[in-house]
Amino acid sequence: MGKYVIAGNWKMNKTPAETTALIEEIKPLVKDATCDVIVGVPFVDLAAALEAVKGSKIGVAAQNCHWEKSGAYTGEISAEMLKAMGVGYVILGHSERRTYFGDTDVTVQKRVRAALDAGLTVILCVGEYLEQREQGITGEVVAMQTKIALGGVSKEELSRIIIAYEPVWAIGTGRTATAEQANEVCALIRKTITGLYSCQTAKKVTIQYGGSMNAANAAELLAQSDVDGGLIGGASLKAPDFATIVAAAK
Ligand code: PEP
Repeated sequence: MGKYVIAGNWKMNKTPAETTALIEEIKPLVKDATCDVIVGVPFVDLAAALEAVKGSKIGVAAQNCHWEKSGAYTGEISAEMLKAMGVGYVILGHSERRTYFGDTDVTVQKRVRAALDAGLTVILCVGEYLEQREQGITGEVVAMQTKIALGGVSKEELSRIIIAYEPVWAIGTGRTATAEQANEVCALIRKTITGLYSCQTAKKVTIQYGGSMNAANAAELLAQSDVDGGLIGGASLKAPDFATIVAAAK
């Protein structure tokens, strides 16, 4: 299916000096990776990360961006600013942004638009809450999140979108979706993209699974037919664990 991409989401962890140290530790461990490798770091660590990844194939992601280019938005960072400093990727619509900071499907769509316009590649997170899974509406929720976020995204632009299926109940909980559950929803996302674009286009999109993926369970999750990689939180902060997950993505 899509190209394998393993991305770390460091969340609100690490100072610039710690960022340099962790990337220096990761670099030799992933030098033979056959997949794309990305680290998603806090805004204040982006400069250190960009410097540290030099000479490697590791990409650097921010964890959010605003939809306006500039203006009176105290505390915000624009996609243009990220692009100007050399950042290649941005994680958008993460469930922690949706749950704690008021991100909605509509604001996620606006952020996606701004990121694409600035030339960034987006890691777009979608996923259901436990109550929604228990109600049997996972498919509807994830399809709607995907459709709204991709509203106005052209077929050409879709090549700069990675989708991360992250069931909210599995994030940071140690409770991983089964390989079957992960594959079922990733396949459903691909079907949604087929409906919006075409089968050919949908096949090329990278669809990651995220939610307590770790060194022990990565191989099984990544072996699923519709899982093209992972978005890794906790385990991405431990270089050997992250490297094991990267090695499993082939
Ligand atoms: C995440 O933050 O996107 C994530 C999947 O976290 P964790 O791996 O810790 O569940």
